[in-house]
Amino acid sequence: MTELICIGCPRGCHLKVDEENGYQVTGNNCPIGAEYGKNELTNPTRVLTTTVRISGGIHNCLPVRSSGPIKKALLMEAVRALKDVEVASPVKKGDVIVHNIVGSGQDMLASRDM
Ligand code: SF4
Repeated sequence: MTELICIGCPRGCHLKVDEENGYQVTGNNCPIGAEYGKNELTNPTRVLTTTVRISGGIHNCLPVRSSGPIKKALLMEAVRALKDVEVASPVKKGDVIVHNIVGSGQDMLASRDM
């Protein structure tokens, strides 16, 4: 049995995941918690939020986020790949900054106009 705190919303339900019974989840107050609990033990993922360099903008860094969850095992590789990325202003919120980051199947998108 593994105990987790659900990150699906601010309520922060305390979950128990039973690995020996098909990753059955208890303690969740909605289906999101059940899915999170199972995924966290079988295929943990996170949405990646970070910044890349930008030239010609009002700031030196542009906030970016992944278009969807990326496997946790790929997150550090993705962050390293983004260290070398520099874009030029203007950029619109939602613009694709990097397509299919480190082969994850997710794009890195601009989080704001700049
Ligand atoms: S189980 Fe549902 S209600 Fe509880 S923290 Fe997760 S998302 Fe929120």
